[in-house]
Amino acid sequence: MATGMEHEEASGETIKTFKELGVTDVLCEACDQLGWKVPTKIQVEALPVALQGRDIIGLAETGSGKTGAFALPILQALLETPQRFFALVLTPTRELAFQISEQFEALGSSIGVQTTVIVGGIDMMAQSLALAKKPHVIIATPGRLIDHLENTKGFNLRALKYLVMDEADRILNMDFETEVDKILKVIPRDRKTFLFSATMTKKVQKLQRAALKDPVKCAVSSKYQTVEKLQQYYIFIPSKFKDSYLVYILNELAGNSFMIFCSTCNNTQRTALLLRNLGFTAIPLHGQMSQNKRLGSLNKFKAKTRSILLATDVASRGLDIPHVDVVINFDIPTHSKDYIHRVGRTARAGRSGKSITFVTQYDVELFQRIEHLIGKKLPAFPTEEEEVMMLTERVAEAQRFARMELRQHEEKKKRSRDEADEEDDAEGALGVRNKVAGGKKKKRKP
Ligand code: AMP
Repeated sequence: MATGMEHEEASGETIKTFKELGVTDVLCEACDQLGWKVPTKIQVEALPVALQGRDIIGLAETGSGKTGAFALPILQALLETPQRFFALVLTPTRELAFQISEQFEALGSSIGVQTTVIVGGIDMMAQSLALAKKPHVIIATPGRLIDHLENTKGFNLRALKYLVMDEADRILNMDFETEVDKILKVIPRDRKTFLFSATMTKKVQKLQRAALKDPVKCAVSSKYQTVEKLQQYYIFIPSKFKDSYLVYILNELAGNSFMIFCSTCNNTQRTALLLRNLGFTAIPLHGQMSQNKRLGSLNKFKAKTRSILLATDVASRGLDIPHVDVVINFDIPTHSKDYIHRVGRTARAGRSGKSITFVTQYDVELFQRIEHLIGKKLPAFPTEEEEVMMLTERVAEAQRFARMELRQHEEKKKRSRDEADEEDDAEGALGVRNKVAGGKKKKRKP
């Protein structure tokens, strides 16, 4: 397997170990147990300065190993001066929050670190109870954290020592600026701050001025660069044969783990059903699924009980899925920047990976824009048309089944909505009696 080590040897740089960067023995062992043999570039840059207690502005993307770059210094400081509510990590999405917490727990398990994830879509009460246990590290999305700061009795962050703002550009793009300002007002000024961002936008610069003290800049990749160990391909095919080509490629590259990107929730669901009908272990992840289902999908995929994850762009950034070997852009991304984020799911932390982008007669212009953005022409992925055509019949049958299942699913959903509506109408008519009788009106599902 290709490793970051080979890469650095090839470029003639000397390789530093975690220990040489100043990481304490017990945490070096934790890295070793996670299979982190050598530090990644951002870790080499950030760890020594962070361990000296400096603020950091890190320009690095997900996949670079940035979580380790901020988690290790925090854990090391926590070892020196154990304290509850020691660090807060702000992140834009729920999925990212859970991934960061997993890395904290994996690195900190031998030192007994306790973390809590505070994100929307999960019961406030359960979170309040978790906060009452006073964890060492809180990983939160800004909105829900504010909710707790304002409404959860006895909870405050007045003793906080470390603040991390992860994917700051996304936090700010999601209009969390007010929330972030509010949080900055209720935590101590005397603290260490690490700000990580994939891009340096005006808003990020403003936040840097407001929140960091004399920071050291650590940058590992320039904007819009795709990683070196990523082999990127395209296939140019008629739109009506997309499904058959997908099945062909999954067969050709069998044994790998795949992430397939679709443009809509509906197509994600449909394609997952289609592939399942053909015997593949495919699982969907999109915005119309409940938070629990999304986490469930992700965990099944992570546990490798499923080898194909189908996702919309909701999932295209920030997800930590270490073993994706191949990214397939089944539907071409409409925004070329999403291309970078999507293919960033593979070839991470020094591993190699492939991406294949489906280009139909309708997508040529979008594809040219992508090539322009990444500054290179991509090679075509070799396919045998005859073999693909042999699949079309079976694929057509699976398509019919998938459409039927999708329709049944829709009808079931509609029926349960209609039933809820009917109940509401009936209850509306009985409203007065209900009130008198103290009856409860049933809440309609959103
Ligand atoms: P991140 O950019 O923090 O989301 O990390 C991406 C992936 O790289 C995660 O799965 C980490 O477990 C992994 N990783 C982080 N540091 C290293 C390292 N030094 N060597 C190998 N893998 C790493």
